[in-house]
Amino acid sequence: MTASSSSRVAVIGAGIVGLAAALEIQRSGHHVILIEPDEPGGRQSASYGNGCWLNPGAILPISLPGLWRKVPGFLLDPTGPFVIRWRDLPGLAGWLLDFVLAGRNWRLVEACARTRFELCRSAVDEHIALAQEAGVPELIRREGVMYVYLDRSEFLAEERVWRMRREFGVAFSEVGEAELRAMQPELAARYRFGARLDGGAYVVDPGAYCRALAELVVRRGGERVIARASSFEFAAGQLQAVRTETGPVACDQAVIAAGIGSAALARQAGDRVPLISERGYNVVIPEPGFDIPCGLMPSDGLMGVVATRQGLRLAGQVELASVSAPPNWRRTEILQGFAGKMFPQLKIDETRVDRWMGHRPSTPDGLPCIGVSSGSADVFHCFGHSHTGLIQAPTSGRLVAALVDGRAPPLDPAPFSAGRFG
Ligand SMILES: Cc1cc2nc3c(=O)[nH]c(=O)nc-3n(C[C@H](O)[C@H](O)[C@H](O)COP(=O)(O)OP(=O)(O)OC[C@H]3O[C@@H](n4cnc5c(N)ncnc54)[C@H](O)[C@@H]3O)c2cc1C
Repeated sequence: MTASSSSRVAVIGAGIVGLAAALEIQRSGHHVILIEPDEPGGRQSASYGNGCWLNPGAILPISLPGLWRKVPGFLLDPTGPFVIRWRDLPGLAGWLLDFVLAGRNWRLVEACARTRFELCRSAVDEHIALAQEAGVPELIRREGVMYVYLDRSEFLAEERVWRMRREFGVAFSEVGEAELRAMQPELAARYRFGARLDGGAYVVDPGAYCRALAELVVRRGGERVIARASSFEFAAGQLQAVRTETGPVACDQAVIAAGIGSAALARQAGDRVPLISERGYNVVIPEPGFDIPCGLMPSDGLMGVVATRQGLRLAGQVELASVSAPPNWRRTEILQGFAGKMFPQLKIDETRVDRWMGHRPSTPDGLPCIGVSSGSADVFHCFGHSHTGLIQAPTSGRLVAALVDGRAPPLDPAPFSAGRFG
């Protein structure tokens, strides 16, 4: 059923994606019920511990041509930025194969990049507007994000990727050695080149940002139900309620935006979505002894480095393992080791360092799952944003809100359909 102005819409999950969707659905005039067992943007969510980057150039999927050659290394080198836990390999092999195949040629990668660009193109402005509406404009800094290379030849080796960004109109500037030193004197001498996305931004406290958005949903008349959704109740083909452990939550429509918890709910709505956790880690170092002028990512460490309110945050690592496997805190030591190489003067008080592990909700083809479910016209998907859900959240929210509302969508929803997985 198409939402009428009095529709009650349940949004399952209060990470950045669910919150952005909830606010857009409210803007369409509907009553929103946020179902979330934990604190919105709390430590359980990817939205808490991510790399904070709002990168308008995040158009490339992770799987690129030639990746298959690196898979044996992922299995054998436990210190690399991308690892697969042997004991979980049988359960992940199907996803991994689809992942490698999704990026098997540049034609597929370019098509994916074009679609991803649509989710990024206006996102920085949309985040700035959301933060302002929520009364927390100070949480977003529009100071750009920069990839840092050992030298310009490393940057040129990625020429195809940067050319694509240029063709999409994503502005960036090359930063030579002298300028780089002037911007960040603490950076190790071995880094001699940067590529800066001037339109980029970063969030200085993603957890607080989500909390502020959740408060805004409630201020605008939304309800908060502190419970875990488990399934749906239908009568005569229409959604009646979302079932939770504390009882049914009556609603006319529901949006599944539960991050890594979404696949089980999507199955209840008729879709088998191959969603796995690309587990990631962060380390936060309070009072590192210097400031950084923008978000940084070193080419050798592949981690986001950002000055957050709590300290210098290093976020990255991809660990393919089951959701329930215990964290491997050695991965945070790897991040910290890179930070030491990046900033030789870095001050670390080990007693104050915070470490975190969380789940990137990832589909194999680098695109989220957004759209109406196969099993019910009243249940919608909005999950699977993998490495870039922070930047992609506002546009994803606008898209799913239009579909819930029965309006013309702001972008073509076809590439995001759950049906693409067969
Ligand atoms: C290390 C790391 C670095 C990253 N860096 C960046 C970055 O720099 N930029 C960027 O754009 N993206 C980044 N990402 C990705 C981004 O953080 C995620 O894509 C995004 O946070 C996903 O948001 P979400 O709302 O879908 O999921 P989540 O934030 O995980 O939220 C899902 C919510 O659903 C709730 N939930 C789960 N199951 C249920 C249920 N059954 N019923 C009700 N609620 C439920 C959970 O409690 C949780 O609060 C990074 C991720 C990681 C891990």
